[in-house]
Amino acid sequence: MDAFPYLCPMASFEDFKFNKQILNAIAEAGYETPTEIQQKAITPILAGQDVMGIAQTGTGKTAAFVLPMLMKLKYAQGNDPRALILSPTRELAMQIEENIRLFSTYLDLRTVVLYGGLGPKTQKEQLAAGCDIIVATPGRFLDLYLEGDIHTKSLKFLVMDEADKMMDMGFISKIHRILEIVPRKRQNLLFSATMSELVRKISGDFLAFPTVVEVTEQATPAKTVSQTLYFVPNLKTKLNLLQHLLKDDESFNRLIVFCKTRAVADNVFRFLERKYGEENVRVIHANKGQNTRINSINAFKEGNIRILVATDVAARGLDVSNVSHVFNFDVPIVTEDYVHRIGRTGRAFNNGDAITFCNPAEEYYLKKIEKLIRQSIPVAEVPEDVFVEKTGFEERQEIAREIDAQKRRENPDFKGAFHEKKYAPKPTQKNNKGRKPTSKKTKRR
Ligand code: AMP
Repeated sequence: MDAFPYLCPMASFEDFKFNKQILNAIAEAGYETPTEIQQKAITPILAGQDVMGIAQTGTGKTAAFVLPMLMKLKYAQGNDPRALILSPTRELAMQIEENIRLFSTYLDLRTVVLYGGLGPKTQKEQLAAGCDIIVATPGRFLDLYLEGDIHTKSLKFLVMDEADKMMDMGFISKIHRILEIVPRKRQNLLFSATMSELVRKISGDFLAFPTVVEVTEQATPAKTVSQTLYFVPNLKTKLNLLQHLLKDDESFNRLIVFCKTRAVADNVFRFLERKYGEENVRVIHANKGQNTRINSINAFKEGNIRILVATDVAARGLDVSNVSHVFNFDVPIVTEDYVHRIGRTGRAFNNGDAITFCNPAEEYYLKKIEKLIRQSIPVAEVPEDVFVEKTGFEERQEIAREIDAQKRRENPDFKGAFHEKKYAPKPTQKNNKGRKPTSKKTKRR
């Protein structure tokens, strides 16, 4: 398999006629060849077109809009921002800013990054000092605009990154508000990993006759990521299996463990911390302070810690190379998050593994994911020496209740089996295959 399937061997960055400063920065970043999205998007962006880029994370989409934007902005000018990049999360905003810094080393452009979760004082001071580019989450941008800290009249370049996540996170009205306060005459770029109905709608409001560039089929996980699925009956067995796999510390050397809630993330973190020591494990979720999150991400990036436990929102936009494994400790409930999560591994020139644990209540979401990615995730048997725990009473009830709710969602006439106690899993089974509605699916390997 190609190490990095997005590279276009025929193209070079010189072909885009970037100036010397940008070409030097690109060379120093170690980029030799443009990726496919860069190859397809940079030329129309330089030509002033609106562009809609369907590209998942890991394809090089950030540089695809940052490089031509820098080329167009050229040098510092006046006090007011000329480019605005909107990001759904602070982590992604910071990531984008890092990219801008990297490529503007030899330009004197000024960038300010705005996000919530900390006081606005420093951000206000930075704005007052003058800037050319703002990278912001929509809420903080609007707050500071309303307080008079941002003047939008010079904005000529508007980018919406990870538009699908923006929609999932309910930013649509904030985006509409922002569109009202920016000049009508501007160039717009929209990037999204998936093309949902809402993304289609917002792109209609946002883009004028866009050039559409797409690098993979919609929501196709990167080819560099190999996927594995384990059917696991309960939380304790998930922990046992995780621990079993992590024994191989040579190949499982840098991993992210995704959990569905903060509570699960904290539990998993405490378990792993006990096993592997506090110096090897960190947890990030929305309840952690901004500085703690940044420190944990940096420690992970620098390779100082082996395991990062995370919830989806906290890990959005996280760009860490050499992640060996992504674990979906829980199957993501927001289907598209599966693609985003596993896009954390197999980035740039590396291969990666994504391993998903699925309990009976999660099969519902698993089916939706498999439909979205148009693939069946290969199933592996839980290894013999992993102890399969009995599902405790409370967890059994919870799983049954969830399955009932799912059935009701699909069929409003469904009366519910849970309260009739029809759902009676056999906790002594090795794994949950016997309970699977379509047992042949487990043979898909
Ligand atoms: P992105 O999809 O923008 O999050 O980028 C994913 C990763 O690919 C980042 O670590 C980038 O630094 C890296 N990358 C982007 N473009 C290139 C390129 N042309 N050559 C090598 N690495 C790249």
